[in-house]
Amino acid sequence: MAVFSLYCLLLFLASCLGDQYPPPAMPRGKRTVFAVFCSETGNRLGSARFHKQDKKGRAWKEHAQKLVKYCPACRKRMKVTLKEERHSK
Ligand SMILES: [Zn+2]
Repeated sequence: MAVFSLYCLLLFLASCLGDQYPPPAMPRGKRTVFAVFCSETGNRLGSARFHKQDKKGRAWKEHAQKLVKYCPACRKRMKVTLKEERHSK
């Protein structure tokens, strides 16, 4: 019984530490910032962040293909083109 409660204490301490220091196993790969442009006018619509690869190994391009954003110049939701902007830390 004493061993068990010691184990619980250890788990408790570990979870406290986990709050202060993000566990290194959590972030999977770097996220990259992409500038989002209207595919028609080239109007800049903002930015988006993607993991280079998601958990299932799909590349960001597969997600980006489905992305539509409202473009004020075209006054409707447009397919977008993405340009890699910078790496987020
Ligand atoms: Zn547009």
